[in-house]
Amino acid sequence: MDGVEMNSIPKIVILGAGYSGIMTALRLQKELNYNEADVTLVNKHDYHYFTTQLHMTAAGTDNPENNRVSILKLIDEFKIDFVKSTVVQIRPQDRKVILEDGTLSYDYLVIALGGESETFGIPGLAEYALTIRSINSTRLIREHIEYQFARFKREPHRTDLLTIVVGGAGFTGIEFVGELADRVPELCRQFDVDPSLVKIINIEAAPTVLPGFDPELVEYGMRVLERKGVTFRIGTPIRECTPDGVVVGDGEEIKAATVIWTGGVRGNRLIEEAGIETARGRVKVDEYLRAPGYDNIFVVGDCSLVFNDEGKPYPPTAQIAVQQGVNCAQNLVACIRNQALKPFRYQHKGTLASLGKGEAIGVAFGRKYRGRTAAWMKKANDLRYLFVLGGIMLVLRKGRFI
Ligand code: FAD
Ligand code: NAD
Repeated sequence: MDGVEMNSIPKIVILGAGYSGIMTALRLQKELNYNEADVTLVNKHDYHYFTTQLHMTAAGTDNPENNRVSILKLIDEFKIDFVKSTVVQIRPQDRKVILEDGTLSYDYLVIALGGESETFGIPGLAEYALTIRSINSTRLIREHIEYQFARFKREPHRTDLLTIVVGGAGFTGIEFVGELADRVPELCRQFDVDPSLVKIINIEAAPTVLPGFDPELVEYGMRVLERKGVTFRIGTPIRECTPDGVVVGDGEEIKAATVIWTGGVRGNRLIEEAGIETARGRVKVDEYLRAPGYDNIFVVGDCSLVFNDEGKPYPPTAQIAVQQGVNCAQNLVACIRNQALKPFRYQHKGTLASLGKGEAIGVAFGRKYRGRTAAWMKKANDLRYLFVLGGIMLVLRKGRFI
């Protein structure tokens, strides 16, 4: 075990200001007295973004400004130093983090760097498919789709320019096709395109969309999306992505100028490169959210792997990331004050998935919800997060009331 020696004020470094990292920072800010610890938050952008809304930014039904907030507006700079930089290496043996433009040393480290797309080694995906991972990646998707519509007016024989393939019908894929289907009429008006030429094809390897989710709600969701113009290809694995589209199943080629990959996530590669034990980039943390073998390294959010009582891993969600952030901050305070650590217990509050404007499906409080009610519940959930993050002012600024 890597014990912690401290002669001076302990240094806490938090890597990543997504759901888990910002929550750790905000709770530390609240709990710690001035000069009790030296806390540094590192993030590659100077804003925190709402990953849970990125399907809208990607489809172009929402503005990126609604989906991000300046980190300096959230933190108290007298208590937390913010460093805008990219982490390039974690060196647990030296208790150092290498940034693109400097080095930080720590006594306690929180790894909250989020996930990356998992391509499972499928040829061509990394090169030719786009992914929904950040504000920047969604700007690219939006611009790319608009560009294909504009190109079509110059090359009207190429209907593949109007075909959008979405690989994977998990929650990200489903939420994205719902938004995209809402955006298509506007795109067609803007570019004078016949809507009947546009195809949105959602391809899923499993025998159903949203594998593992409530079958009745899945059925409802598929009907809503099909009505909006989405075509599903289920039980159809994508085998390859090419510059011209995808190859599926037993070799069928689907031509598409846009391929969006939503087939899965893994933890950040920097963790395995640091020599910390991982499974698909995710760390099987102990009950206090620490990396195996390191008393002073906490891992939270999509980079961590936490199991339920039946030994099944919880899926990586913002919901668990936020709860881990709270627990991690409590445990860091406990470490500094030489108090007992508190085990992390996840409280699953439910799952709600958007199907586009005014439509959603979900299970919460042991009940199923669909349609407008589910959409309102999802909205309420988003507002609640804004409130926890930045109080009523943030709700009013980013709540999309207009
Ligand atoms: P993130 O929120 O991804 O944050 C990681 C942070 O680290 C980012 O700020 C990033 O910029 C920063 N970072 C990454 N690499 C570096 C580096 N090298 N150097 C410096 N900084 C770095 N979950 C739900 O519970 N409910 C939902 O409704 C929901 N909807 C979703 C919709 C979409 C479209 C997607 C893609 C995901 C959705 N999720 C949802 C899942 C959820 O967004 C993630 O589980 C959650 O974001 C994980 O939080 P995190 O703190 O681990 O990482
Ligand atoms: P996922 O792993 O949940 O789903 C990926 C889907 O892609 C699966 O259905 C899988 O069968 C399919 N797939 C994998 N390989 C394929 C292939 N070769 N061809 C075709 N299909 C293939 O990933 P996700 O949807 O990005 O979700 C990631 C995490 O974020 C999950 O934990 C999810 O619960 C969470 N999330 C939650 C919400 C919400 O609560 N509203 C929304 C989005 C994401």
